[in-house]
Amino acid sequence: MRKNRTETYLGSCTVCNFCVLVFRKDVKRYNVRIRSDGSVRLSVPLTATLSDAKPLLLQHQRWIAKKRRQVLLARDKAAAQPAPSQAELASQKAWLSSRVPTLLSRYEDALGVQCTRWRLRPMVSRWGSCNVRTGRITLNTELARLPICCLESVVVHELCHLRVANHSPAFYALMDEQFPAWRQARKIMNANPPKRASGLS
Ligand SMILES: [Zn+2]
Repeated sequence: MRKNRTETYLGSCTVCNFCVLVFRKDVKRYNVRIRSDGSVRLSVPLTATLSDAKPLLLQHQRWIAKKRRQVLLARDKAAAQPAPSQAELASQKAWLSSRVPTLLSRYEDALGVQCTRWRLRPMVSRWGSCNVRTGRITLNTELARLPICCLESVVVHELCHLRVANHSPAFYALMDEQFPAWRQARKIMNANPPKRASGLS
């Protein structure tokens, strides 16, 4: 899932004993993102300053701390699982290969876009990616462990990038139009992060 907006590092704020990195970015709203390593980033609009960010972070510190605990718990759960074996990986690929072409063609038609090539590989930090220049889509083999709505959501997400390259409101409006269940799918994916990649592709 790509991001291509440039950002400027503004500084950091300490909230509940952890550090929040604040970035200025071409966005309309403040947006908190908790990464799988537990680091917390806040994106602020181009006009905002670090002193605008501080009261906001303090106001939401309990929520941020709670979300961060959930992310770290999910990470520990994922780390405790062994990486998939070669046999497991082969069966994941077979399961996905039997479903991806149908999903791709359905949403390619609906969106009026074309994925030129797609491939499956184990990835640690992303469920999918899309090269908007070449039209090539990569899907995480770990999607085979989750309900099919997650695969469908990632396929639609990556195809939507062929229409809207960034994660702007226009992008999410397109997601809502094409696959309204994407929010539920995202919850499932966030609660079940990918296992460690085995290095096979
Ligand atoms: Zn994306």
